[in-house]
Amino acid sequence: MLARKRRRMTLASLARASGISVRSLTAFENGHKTPSPESLFSLASALRVPESFLNAEPIDDLQPDAVSFRAPSKMSALDRDAALSCGSVATLLNGWLEERFRLPRPDVPTFPHLTPEEAAEQLRARWGLGEAPIPNLIHLLESRGVRVFSLPSDCRDVDAFSTVHKGTPYIFLNTQKSGERGRFDAAHELGHLILHAEHRIPHGIESEQEAQRFASSFLMPRAGILAQVLVNASTDRILSAKRKWGVAAMALTYRLHEMNLLTDWAYRTVAKQLSQMGYRRSEPGGINRESSQLLAKAFEALRPQGVTVKEIAEAIDVFPDELNDYVFGLVPVALEGGREFVASGRPGLRLLK
Ligand SMILES: [Zn+2]
Repeated sequence: MLARKRRRMTLASLARASGISVRSLTAFENGHKTPSPESLFSLASALRVPESFLNAEPIDDLQPDAVSFRAPSKMSALDRDAALSCGSVATLLNGWLEERFRLPRPDVPTFPHLTPEEAAEQLRARWGLGEAPIPNLIHLLESRGVRVFSLPSDCRDVDAFSTVHKGTPYIFLNTQKSGERGRFDAAHELGHLILHAEHRIPHGIESEQEAQRFASSFLMPRAGILAQVLVNASTDRILSAKRKWGVAAMALTYRLHEMNLLTDWAYRTVAKQLSQMGYRRSEPGGINRESSQLLAKAFEALRPQGVTVKEIAEAIDVFPDELNDYVFGLVPVALEGGREFVASGRPGLRLLK
């Protein structure tokens, strides 16, 4: 069922693709019937997964209630299930890595009673960030025990989502966006974890706005922005400041207006100019997308042990080319090469913020 959901297939479409009746498929999924070797083969090819995936122990699915989806009402059940099943595969990969490495323990408090801006300030204080720009948000999150994965193409209809699974916070990011959007999405999901996770993540416009405000205040802290002297800043000035903070030009403009550093009139003028320059739809001359440090280091450490992409993929029952989709495309770079074996315990990974 996990494989079917990941491929966004209904029972009927899988029946068509595999030549197996809906009734048999239902019986397989309920565990009332075991597929014959021939059926297994047809199913695996229709679903583009290794047969071992279909035989694997059922894994704990992520629960939709505990997952932050933007505009869930506009999402089809197939899109939602596809995203959830991508998330489940990533938890398998995380489990595999945790058996081999001591990964950072979560340090993600929840502040359900604070305003988003207060929560962002508290978190900055707790994580010792001061009022400075965050050089790399994914590295920061990973050093605080949040596992960050990229979403495979099957699941890219969602922007990003987050959940807490067995005590570990996860954030999943769509890698098709600009670097600035990716950072904002990650900060938005962090907002859900900080503001909403304790009481399960509520779905609705209000919690979305809270997560947006958290992201804005976390990436652009009030005191840090005030120190930049951006009162009624020109478009040029905003364009140079947004690079410093690693945010979209529009996001900074919005933040300045919200902090009353831009008058309504100045805000509209700048927004219009930015829009004409193409900053509403994309981010001309933007920053590179952030990527995972934890996964890169893990793969680097696995290489001298002779662990291959194929072995990791087999351990989580996906095809090797699909593994890359979950890990920001880091696998081939890090894992090509020699196979000499080095015995080791569970080394810790040193992560730099
Ligand atoms: Zn959200």
